[in-house]
Amino acid sequence: MKSISLLAVASTLFASALADLNKAPLSSRQLLQSGALQSPAPALAGKGAPHGTASSEAVSKLCDDLQQKLGGKVVRLQTTLVDTAYFQSVDHAYNAEQRAYKPTCSVLATQASHVVDTYAAVKAAGAGYGVRGGGHNPNYGWNSSPDVFIDFGQWCDVTLSDDGNTADIAPGCRWGEVYSTLEAQGKTVVGGRVSNVGMGAVLGGGLSHLTPEHGLIADNVMSYTIVLPSGELVTAGSGGDYADLWWALKGSTNQMGIVVNYKLLTKDVGEWWGGLLTFLPTQVDAFVDAVAEYNAKYDSFNDTKAAIVPTITWVDLPTPALLLVGLAYHGPSRPKGIFDMFFDLKPVADTTRKSSYADINGVYDFGSLYGSSTHFRTSSSYLSKTQAREIYAAFQDFATKNVGLWWSLSLSYESFTASGLAKAAAAGGNPQGWAAGRGFTAQTYLVQWVPSLPTHKKQRLLAAAKAATTAGSDDIPLFINYAAADQQPLLSYGNLDRLRGIKAKYDADSYVTKHTGGPRFEGGDF
Ligand SMILES: Cc1cc2nc3c(=O)[nH]c(=O)nc-3n(C[C@H](O)[C@H](O)[C@H](O)COP(=O)(O)OP(=O)(O)OC[C@H]3O[C@@H](n4cnc5c(N)ncnc54)[C@H](O)[C@@H]3O)c2cc1C
Repeated sequence: MKSISLLAVASTLFASALADLNKAPLSSRQLLQSGALQSPAPALAGKGAPHGTASSEAVSKLCDDLQQKLGGKVVRLQTTLVDTAYFQSVDHAYNAEQRAYKPTCSVLATQASHVVDTYAAVKAAGAGYGVRGGGHNPNYGWNSSPDVFIDFGQWCDVTLSDDGNTADIAPGCRWGEVYSTLEAQGKTVVGGRVSNVGMGAVLGGGLSHLTPEHGLIADNVMSYTIVLPSGELVTAGSGGDYADLWWALKGSTNQMGIVVNYKLLTKDVGEWWGGLLTFLPTQVDAFVDAVAEYNAKYDSFNDTKAAIVPTITWVDLPTPALLLVGLAYHGPSRPKGIFDMFFDLKPVADTTRKSSYADINGVYDFGSLYGSSTHFRTSSSYLSKTQAREIYAAFQDFATKNVGLWWSLSLSYESFTASGLAKAAAAGGNPQGWAAGRGFTAQTYLVQWVPSLPTHKKQRLLAAAKAATTAGSDDIPLFINYAAADQQPLLSYGNLDRLRGIKAKYDADSYVTKHTGGPRFEGGDF
């Protein structure tokens, strides 16, 4: 009996394979839509990006029409057989999982009118959409879409004003390009600390080496030019009709509309000193103590020109591979005292020297390689030595118990100094509502695994990473730029009610919330 039924199954399969052979081959679109080229959404990495209410035919038509209007160089269709520009655009995300989305078209916008036209078409059809600047946010679906994808990757212009006080920066620039262009003119801006991170960092508040001196990145935005959910193109600055929007954009990421220009206040670039110190993995406890000591003593030095980025990195093995601290000083040489706790540990390698701001922001560029599946988590703490060690110990335990599931891990303690928070308060505050008087650290937990890891193993890994994220201090809002979607960072904000009110004013029918991935204003399961 058994052999007969096996034979029956085999012949049925053979017959259906023959029938398939007789059918026309699948087009690239059918193949993509069948899910054959897509990987399942990783659990606990967020809900992903929504489809709109438009049918797939309606989205196809809107993409075709848009291509007619904006041209084939700008609007790349999924249906075009192996369009390298389409795939390069869609696949160029820091978290490889974003590639699961194959939008019906990718709009390679290079001017504001491309965005205005695309957004009007998206809204008219009720389509979903996604926006990507530098593509570094790992949260699944926050910078990708199954419907229409707006990619700023081809659009970077940096223009210094005639008086040198502001710079207009296009939404597709990366900080390295911004710094090198401005530095040649003696200027710079408060911006991200890795060269190829994009302008999206501004929309989460943004932490910079210049934050202790000048506040968050967003505190140094003079104005945003933005396509509102209504479709209008407006400029929002600290005064005038859209001052509420300017304030909301300091922490709402992609929830208020699509930014097409950032006008940033510039600073004289001045002189810089800095580089990387490397320590032996056996020094990890002393290293973590030094990080806590630096944060505890920072304000007593009364010198806001210093910044650090300390990281502990694991590669494949359950013991740390690298202990690094990036040092940055806005001055010509090493300052007295402030970095001594790190030099006292006798680093095994030291690249510190008189340098440029652009180069100092490049010391961690090796950490921004694309191609892995990636997950960020964060916690906020008033960091004591005990807490710093507990945070490390919990993540070390996670590393050990899950070895083989991840290939790279990193833990970083990012300093939000009291001086930087005071500057933020003086610049009008922000939705996060961080208290001005007391510095804190935002821990960054980075987990990377190979994209081919089976889904059940991903789920196990992400659940374990969640459990290993030390709670931190309840009264400190989360830093959204490093938060996982399931941490629901907006709900931790001190000024959430005010932000909700502004969101309701500009996105009254919640078009953005319902049609694009991103942080959510309501609770619920992730
Ligand atoms: C290696 C590395 C280094 C980092 N260093 C820093 C740092 O020094 N300081 C810091 O604050 N953060 C840092 N981050 C975090 C980073 O700021 C966030 O991941 C940020 O989201 C990245 O911006 P992006 O433009 O590269 O990414 P994207 O993922 O393209 O954008 C982030 C979010 O903003 C939205 N968005 C982007 N552009 C627009 C726009 N024009 N209009 C509307 N919405 C838009 C996207 O839809 C997405 O939801 C780092 C991250 C990595 C991976």
